[in-house]
Amino acid sequence: MTQRLYYDNATLVDFDAHIVARRETERGPAVQLDRTAFYPTSGGQPHDTGTLAGIPVVDVWNEEEAGPPGTVWHLLGATPVAADDETVHGIIDWARRFDHMQQHTGQHILSAACVELYQGNTVGFHLGSAASTIDLDIPQLSWEAAFRIEDAVNRVIWENRPVTIHTVTHDDLKDMPLRKPPQVTGDIRVIWVEGYDVSACGGTHVRSTGEIGLLKITGIERYKGGVRVAFLCGGRALRDYRRVLHALRETSSDLSVAQDEVPQTVVRLQEELQTTRRALSKAQGQLLDFEADHLWEATPEIDGVRRIGVHWIDRPFADARAIAGRLRERPRTLLLLAVSEADGARLVCARSDDLPHVDAGAILREVTQALGGRGGGSPSIAQGGAPVHPADVIMATIQSTFTLRRFE
Ligand SMILES: [Zn+2]
Repeated sequence: MTQRLYYDNATLVDFDAHIVARRETERGPAVQLDRTAFYPTSGGQPHDTGTLAGIPVVDVWNEEEAGPPGTVWHLLGATPVAADDETVHGIIDWARRFDHMQQHTGQHILSAACVELYQGNTVGFHLGSAASTIDLDIPQLSWEAAFRIEDAVNRVIWENRPVTIHTVTHDDLKDMPLRKPPQVTGDIRVIWVEGYDVSACGGTHVRSTGEIGLLKITGIERYKGGVRVAFLCGGRALRDYRRVLHALRETSSDLSVAQDEVPQTVVRLQEELQTTRRALSKAQGQLLDFEADHLWEATPEIDGVRRIGVHWIDRPFADARAIAGRLRERPRTLLLLAVSEADGARLVCARSDDLPHVDAGAILREVTQALGGRGGGSPSIAQGGAPVHPADVIMATIQSTFTLRRFE
């Protein structure tokens, strides 16, 4: 059984111990110590990192089920050379530990405030690498309510109330205002936030609430019939404020408006963009009308049919289709339009309804096959594609298809 030094003192960052067991895991060598200040992942709080005998400690876990109670394993970056009777020195990564202490103690106060103000019980807790979350058993929580909760929590933080640890028996619990019943047997570790919250917990906590600095709720979402509340404490809240303010400062500078005017400016720009897009789309349509008119008028009628063959380079195929749609509304018109894109040619062939004996699908198949491609469609309109060809080859193929045919 490992003596857990952090149980009594979360600020203890270096300690001496002896290795009492070793084993090889799939992830590397692991050791068990007679005493440890390393916190193992549990109760929603991630493990500590640091060094043991100068070797990185990369994971710490408690093997409650497989080993005797309180068996803590330390996964190491290399196998330690120290003999089992030799003293090894452990050092906790304090920045990471203190960050976890701030988030975790903040969670106790947040959970208590949710009960106090909105009868919301915490049914889940996760301390993530970015944000932390609690899950509440109430159907909803407005931002207005969240701000009231934040105010209550930060009042407790700024009152700098002592946070103390007590080890008690189940009998002692009867007289304690415990927020929720403990899930462990035997002696119970209880965390008191003086005059505000009493919780059974095995995690690491700050010594007084002032060390949390600040708690900010950053997200509210519906989750499994309840509410998931995301929050940041202390250094994380500061870094997030820095990040958000930087983004706002950049945006307000790019828009040349005051920071408070950014939201309404973005709405105005979105409206302007929509109006501009509609105007552009209308102008593009008019341009295509004009282009179709010009093509039709510039093409002479041969044997009573206008045969319009055009090849464009680097133009959207949608333009070709739009022009084809306009031209087939004209009388006695057959068209074959091609566009060369970076990866090949795309073609559309169509005819007006007054040329029912002309099969646009057959013409398109003939041209695309001649160019080593394929395509198909109905007798009135068809489209297809072919590999890359020089512009003169595509144009010559279109011309020969038209020239070799007579359309009555
Ligand atoms: Zn706790």
